[in-house]
Amino acid sequence: MKKLVSIAIDGPAAAGKSTIAKAVAKRLGYTYIDTGAMYRAFTYYVLKKGVDPRNEEASVALIPEVKITLHPDGTVICSGEDVTRAIREIRVSSCVSYIASYPKIRLALVDEQRAMAKCDNVVMDGRDIGTYVLPDALIKIFMVASVEERAKRRYKENVEKHIACSYEDIVNDVRERDRIDSSRAFAPLKPASDAIEIDTSNMTIEEVIKTVMDIIESKVKN
Ligand code: C5P
Repeated sequence: MKKLVSIAIDGPAAAGKSTIAKAVAKRLGYTYIDTGAMYRAFTYYVLKKGVDPRNEEASVALIPEVKITLHPDGTVICSGEDVTRAIREIRVSSCVSYIASYPKIRLALVDEQRAMAKCDNVVMDGRDIGTYVLPDALIKIFMVASVEERAKRRYKENVEKHIACSYEDIVNDVRERDRIDSSRAFAPLKPASDAIEIDTSNMTIEEVIKTVMDIIESKVKN
């Protein structure tokens, strides 16, 4: 059987993980897996059903109904509905961290993430990929950047995608998600002990991609 390679890219909200992970996956011919999109899609479904995302029991009860598919072109389908755009809205962002703190929901999504990594070479981004989902990943990157820089980038991205938001809402969202994601009991946001940290605050996208590709090349050579 062919040995598969997994690359884990973790870090706080809006650190640029998906941009880098997507580009690196493309260069390597690997499959890119955006695990944040899965938690966002679950949250979208909870809101659609009129369930309060702070209600763990009611949110967990929806697990059997939620079927998430990530397509290679970035389209996200949740239980038959194309939610690609809707999951980026602030109403989803502002409560996704509650949903992501519920162990039963995490376990259901982690099973799917591990199954995907068993079928293909993957670049997977998230919060707990290096620590929990794929602890044996060949390469683990932990990307960080200042809150202001991250909020600025996310704001620009939303404006380009015509997603309504204010800069202040984004700063608050990024801060609050980092707080909840880092303090949850189960699989919190933190670097794996063997992760390589990259501070992207003063780097261009191309510079970050090159840094990651150099890390991968040196690891593969060794
Ligand atoms: O990556 P993104 O910012 O889209 O993730 C949205 C949210 O999903 C995060 O703030 C976090 O609460 C949750 N998440 C997680 N574990 C992952 C990926 C995302 O808890 N592996």
